[in-house]
Amino acid sequence: MDFTFTHPESREQKTLHLSEEQLVEMIDSDLILEKMVEEQCNCEPIGETNVVECGCEEYYYEFELDEQKEQPKKKIEINEYEVDLVVVTKEGQIKVGDKLKIIGKNTRDDQYAIAEDILMIGGNEEIIIDTDKNRYFITKLLIKGTSWAKQVCLVRE
Ligand SMILES: [Zn+2]
Repeated sequence: MDFTFTHPESREQKTLHLSEEQLVEMIDSDLILEKMVEEQCNCEPIGETNVVECGCEEYYYEFELDEQKEQPKKKIEINEYEVDLVVVTKEGQIKVGDKLKIIGKNTRDDQYAIAEDILMIGGNEEIIIDTDKNRYFITKLLIKGTSWAKQVCLVRE
C-alpha cells in the first residue's frame, strides 16, 4: 500500500510503500480487537437510554490476535534449457508479470521471481518481486552494480 505525504508549503510529495506485514506490525493490536468487538456486538440499548449493557466487551477483550499466517509462495519452476534468458540492462525492459531469473551478490538471493509490480519512486524504477515481504530491486542500482541483485534476466518461454 502506498502512502503519499505532501508538505503544506513546498508541496513536495513523498511516497512511502508499506507491505501488509509492515502495516500489521505498526497497528496496535488493541485497535484491531476494538473493531472486532464493534462487529460482534449487536446488542440493543436497554429502555430509553443509549447505553448498551452487555458483556460483549469483557468477553471479546479476552481474545488474543493470532500471528499472521504467511502465505507460502508458489515455487516458480523453469527449465533453463527451454527458455531464453535476456539480461536486463535498462529501465523499462521489465513488465508486470514477467518471469525473472535473479542472481544475487549473495547466493542465498538467487531465485526465480515474478515482477509483481513496478513503481517509480523518486524517478527510479523499482521492481517489486514480493509485495507481501516488500522485496524489490532498483533497476538503476542493478545496472550500476550497487543492488543486492548482481544480474537479472528476463525469462522468455
Ligand atoms: Zn453486546
